[in-house]
Amino acid sequence: MGPRLRLLTANGTDIGREREENQDYYGFYEGTPYGYLWAVCDGMGGAAGGKKASIMAVELIRDTFHEEDHENIEEVIRTSVTRANKAIFERSLEEPVLHGMGTTAVILVIKNTQAYIAHVGDSRIYLVREGQMQQLTTDHSLVQGLVEEGTLTKEQAKDHPQSHIITRSIGVMEKVDCDIRSTPIELKPDDRFILCSDGLTGMVSEEVIREFALEFGPRQACKKLIDLANKNGGTDNITVQIIKILPPLPPPRSFPERLLKRAKSFSKKQYLLLVLCGAIITIATGLGWWFWPEAEQEAAMENHAISDEVISEGRADEDPGERVEDSGERVEDSEERVEDSGERIEDSKEKGEDSGEKTGSDLE
Ligand code: CA
Repeated sequence: MGPRLRLLTANGTDIGREREENQDYYGFYEGTPYGYLWAVCDGMGGAAGGKKASIMAVELIRDTFHEEDHENIEEVIRTSVTRANKAIFERSLEEPVLHGMGTTAVILVIKNTQAYIAHVGDSRIYLVREGQMQQLTTDHSLVQGLVEEGTLTKEQAKDHPQSHIITRSIGVMEKVDCDIRSTPIELKPDDRFILCSDGLTGMVSEEVIREFALEFGPRQACKKLIDLANKNGGTDNITVQIIKILPPLPPPRSFPERLLKRAKSFSKKQYLLLVLCGAIITIATGLGWWFWPEAEQEAAMENHAISDEVISEGRADEDPGERVEDSGERVEDSEERVEDSGERIEDSKEKGEDSGEKTGSDLE
């Protein structure tokens, strides 16, 4: 069995300062048959359509990931997006008020030590590794097309008046093509993944996103990025999820090693106290022996011999080997519990639509 995956994750979303509704939606799900799943969707269209589309997409992706009958991760991703597209498209035809609704989607799946990336539209996934940040997705947008054909520079694209026009989305057409990264990414400790909607990347530079992701834990970084996007204008809904990969747990230490480590961690005061206790016990025993009548001493010696046997029998029953192993497992358990509870805290926010305020203290 390989090392257990450990990670921290946090997320937040905010309506921004100009929009009347938050049409972004996101989810984080543990324990799917295909590993951990994260999704960020940025809805658009109509009075009620955008919000409806992003919620439908996240929920349909989630539901598909909980089915066990898909062959591999690539297939489950493709099926989930196709299903979301079909459902949103059909729904938009049924209800005139939802006509034209659609949504972007970025999907991150982590299974064992690998990460799978997929997207439709201009929401993004970044990877921060060894201090450098790389965009793992390529926007399906009008300006990205112009950048690729050399008409615009990346800098010009940022402030382009049509930067919000996307060329691919879920639910707008009868069919959708989802980009899935051809090879999964082999995880390294300290990797950070950032999923976000364009409400973040439009307001905060990549350089600052990288700095915040490196400098702060996921929870604090999410909060600070959302705050900064709002400070810089907040013209759109802002959503961000950050995942930090932790190093695997070291194997449980053997009993003598742990004892040694504990002894090393004693302070001078504790040492002194220990020595003092030892000295008192020695002196008291010596004094007692000195003043004890000789006949009673002999009797005690005999008793002592008997009681010695009893003790050693008791020890044999207990089997100290097992005891060591037991306590080792307990130590490991308690560390895993810390990690677990961290994830649960994140999980509880999975449907929070306005949890920007809740991203208070970090788990680390
Ligand atoms: Ca947006």
